[in-house]
Amino acid sequence: MTCVTYSKVFALMTAMSTTPDGPPKTPRRVGVLGGTFDPPHLGHLVAADQVLHALSLDEVILVPANEPWQKLGSRQITPAEKRLAMTVAAVGDVDGLSVSGIEVEIGGPSYTSVTLDALADQHPDAEWMVIVGADAAAGLNTWHDTERLRTQATIVVVNRPGADFQPPSGWRWELVEIPSIGISGTGLRRRVAQGHSIQFLTPCAVIEHIREWGLYHSDG
Ligand code: ATP
Ligand code: MG
Repeated sequence: MTCVTYSKVFALMTAMSTTPDGPPKTPRRVGVLGGTFDPPHLGHLVAADQVLHALSLDEVILVPANEPWQKLGSRQITPAEKRLAMTVAAVGDVDGLSVSGIEVEIGGPSYTSVTLDALADQHPDAEWMVIVGADAAAGLNTWHDTERLRTQATIVVVNRPGADFQPPSGWRWELVEIPSIGISGTGLRRRVAQGHSIQFLTPCAVIEHIREWGLYHSDG
């Protein structure tokens, strides 16, 4: 299989995030979709793109966690640099979407409130929207330093099959309805381990990395 490869992968470690062309609007409205991205898939991309357009955001930044502390111990997590590279490959050169390696640069456990501080240094006047699937929205109150996070961003919840939408009380929030995508990282890892195809469930460039690095052969 051949598909487009993207040369900007490792430049990210220093560039951290890309900015689309055009005159800056004030304030920039920026969405942040954090996650493990192990691997990234169409559910992430559709969520990011739909929110970008539904809320007329200037940009949505996908941010792979360095250490997804809430998942540690539950399974083997792919090294952060590989998850970051797969996320860059997944996004490609799509207008309005970008990827940041900021949590990998910061190192240690990844906390959204800390990430937003670091992103705010790069985009000082931005207004922040943290995008979460309905499953993640249900766990918002278990996140780190929620008191501060409530003041930093508006939560944008997108529907996800299998997760009931619960309004995140105590948070500024919005709901964006997206086409339901019944794809998950767990499902993709399992499919690879079982030898099933993941064609079209994630971009071709991600599949190439999974093959090249021999990821997900055991359903850990
Ligand atoms: P895993 O099964 O390993 O948990 P995942 O598919 O849930 O993987 P994550 O990286 O955990 O992917 O998710 C990051 C964010 O993207 C979360 O807020 C999650 O709710 C959201 N998300 C992931 N997949 C979808 C989807 N198919 N539809 C809507 N939101 C999604
Ligand atoms: Mg998940």
